[in-house]
Amino acid sequence: MEFYKPSGACPLNAVLLLLATGIPLTLLGGVVYAFGIVYIPLVYVSVLLTLGYSWLLGTTVGWVAMKGRLRNNRLLTVFGLLMGGMGLYTAWAWDAVARLGTEVGLLGFHPFFLWAYLNFLYENGSWSLDGGAALTGPALAAVWLTEAILVLAISVFVGRSWTANLAYCEKCQLWHEVKQGLLHLASDADAPVWQRVEEGDLGALDQLPFGVDSQGRAIRLDLSLCPECEETGYLTAQAVTYTVDEKGAVSEQARPLFAHAAIARETAAWLCEKACQAAAEAMAAEAAVEEAMAAEAALEGQDHEATAG
Ligand SMILES: [Zn+2]
Repeated sequence: MEFYKPSGACPLNAVLLLLATGIPLTLLGGVVYAFGIVYIPLVYVSVLLTLGYSWLLGTTVGWVAMKGRLRNNRLLTVFGLLMGGMGLYTAWAWDAVARLGTEVGLLGFHPFFLWAYLNFLYENGSWSLDGGAALTGPALAAVWLTEAILVLAISVFVGRSWTANLAYCEKCQLWHEVKQGLLHLASDADAPVWQRVEEGDLGALDQLPFGVDSQGRAIRLDLSLCPECEETGYLTAQAVTYTVDEKGAVSEQARPLFAHAAIARETAAWLCEKACQAAAEAMAAEAAVEEAMAAEAALEGQDHEATAG
C-alpha cells in the first residue's frame, strides 16, 4: 500500500496569516492573561488562565494552518512554538505593566527591560502560594518554567490537532473531508483475512461481516476524500474494542493499524456502497427486533385478557 505524505508546502500566506493574527491576538489575550494573574492571586485561577490562554494560542495556530493551507507538519510545530513564544513574551510585557503601573508603557516590550524585570522578580519575588513569604529564586524559576512548558506544549498540541492528520488534495488545493467510522467490520487485527487487507488486497474486505464480533471487537474504517475531484482517496483503519459497563455506558479502546493508505476512486465508491448496505442491514435488524418486541407485547396482552376474562 502507498500512503499519503504531506507535500511539505508552506505558502507565504500561512506565515503572513500567523503574524497578522498572532501579534494582535497575543497583545490582547496577553493583557487579560497578565492582569488576571496579577489581580486575582489564586492558584487555580492562574492555572485556568494559563490553560485558556494556551488553548487560544493553539486554536489560532490550527486555524492559520487550515486557512493558510500549511502542509508541513514540522513547520506546523514551529508555528505552535512561535505562537506560544509570542504569547509568553507579550504576557511578560503586560505583567510588568500590571505590576509596575502604566507608566512602564511600551518599555515593557523591550527585551533588555524585560530581562532586568525578570532578574528583579527572581531576587525579590512577586507572589506567594499561600499568602506567606513571596516565592523567589529557583522555586520561582521552576514555576515560570512549568508555565512556559505548558503554554508551548498546549499551543503546539492544539495547533497540530486541526490539520496534522488531515490529507490535502494538491490538484484542487483543498483539504480532504473525512467520513469517520464509515464502516465497522467484525474482525480483529490478527485475523488472516485482515492481514490480507493490510498486504494491499482490499477485495478481502468483502469477506468480513459488518458490525462488531461477539467479543466487541471491530475494524473501523475512515475514508478521506477530496471534496472536489474525489480522485485522491485515503483509507485509515483502527482496531477498536467496545466494552459496556454495568451502567450500560459504552467505552472504546482504539489502536491505529494504518493511516491514509491511497485507494483508487472505484475502491472508495465501493466502500461507500458497502457503508450504505451496512446501514440498511442495521436498520432492517433494528426493525426486526422492534417487530418481534411488538408481537411479544401483543401476545402478552392477549394472555392478560384471557386470564382477566
Ligand atoms: Zn481534488
